[in-house]
Amino acid sequence: MRERKKGATIAGRKLRPESLMMSYGYDPKLSEGAVKSPIFQTSTFVFESAEAGKAFFEVAYGLREQGQGEALGLIYSRLNNPDLEILEDRLTLWDDAEACAVFQSGMAAIATALLAYVRPGDVLLHSEPLYGGSDHLVKRFFPELKVEPVGFLAGTPPEELETSLRQRVGGRHVSAVLIETPANPTNALVDIATVSSCAARVGRPGDSPVVMVDNTFLGPLWQHPLEHGADLVVYSATKFLGGHSDVIAGACLGSQRVLAPVRALRTFLGTMADPWTGWLLLRSLETLSMRMTAQMKNARNVAEFLNNHPKVRRVYYLDLLRSEDPTYAIYRRQCLAPGSVISFDLDGGEAEAFRFLNHLKLVKLAVSLGGTESLAEHPASMTHADVPAAEQRRMGVGPAMVRLSVGVEHYEDIITDLGQALEAV
Ligand SMILES: *Cc1c(COP(=O)(O)O)cnc(C)c1O
Repeated sequence: MRERKKGATIAGRKLRPESLMMSYGYDPKLSEGAVKSPIFQTSTFVFESAEAGKAFFEVAYGLREQGQGEALGLIYSRLNNPDLEILEDRLTLWDDAEACAVFQSGMAAIATALLAYVRPGDVLLHSEPLYGGSDHLVKRFFPELKVEPVGFLAGTPPEELETSLRQRVGGRHVSAVLIETPANPTNALVDIATVSSCAARVGRPGDSPVVMVDNTFLGPLWQHPLEHGADLVVYSATKFLGGHSDVIAGACLGSQRVLAPVRALRTFLGTMADPWTGWLLLRSLETLSMRMTAQMKNARNVAEFLNNHPKVRRVYYLDLLRSEDPTYAIYRRQCLAPGSVISFDLDGGEAEAFRFLNHLKLVKLAVSLGGTESLAEHPASMTHADVPAAEQRRMGVGPAMVRLSVGVEHYEDIITDLGQALEAV
């Protein structure tokens, strides 16, 4: 696996990520001809000589530039490990990113990336709603470090956004922007390009904040934030990338330059993934495109069923956006497909939502999303329980809302299950 970035073209034709997920970044010759990468379950690596060890550290700690053709040496599994390096190389293909760093969780990726870029006295801009964990980190933890979060609702029209941010930022230094689009759990959209340019104008003159996009809901198949002006893309790899609800992991991608401080801080916080997690994700990536495509097709059918059901008041799913909707243009420009997470409001309140959830049979009542099995949960009392009720309402999260992650089961069976649970309400 020391020989990377090869074999990505045949007869001058660039291969698609689907075709490279089984081989890219791995050289069987270095592992006894094994067709699959072994799990390099080792904490440390033997240096051929003291000089080689010294050279590896010089590059790893940025004491000098990597020489032409000089391979980055394996040192210690908190810095690098073959399973993680192969995984990182493969992940770059989907987002067409220069570099990637993988983490032990999505929160580890988000926290490490933010900590690499914000400093006391800075303003951190963020969209709303955010995943519950990110919401807590941004609004409760960062203020203790004297980093002030300034939020804006997903879907705010551009003129209003600029006026409101100018007022609240008041010329202070904006060092980072965290955008989640589509937002968890409402599927509300944020225009990455508009927010990026606006964020650079509302702070101190000359500010150029790092724009991070949490691409967990649609990526890496259906949305590529780096193409729309983001500097970093972050993932909860626990969701679609892992895809089988059996591993917790995260990833952060971007240019070498922007990712470098994040990767460096990962080494010192120790938030990297372990070799076994890396290996599991390599296995998952081989079927990523098939899984996400099947889930999205299922979700289209499920959303249509819910949208026509008399006990469902409103369905939040990108495929159902109408051209009159102010965010429809963002959807067309920024997303390639609607994905497979659907939220919907039942006619009623928490009691009706709970009754529905308690009657599901095939669909499991659990948080998380993106796995092969369909899962349903109640955002107001579960994933977003930490967000005060008044704020939940402001972000469009009500007591009658259910979030559904559609899996790869037969869609007619999912619909049968949802139908009988709705009957029980
Ligand atoms: C799950 C999730 C996270 C957190 O990821 P973990 O892997 O659970 O740490 C962050 N953002 C979004 C949008 C998520 O759905």
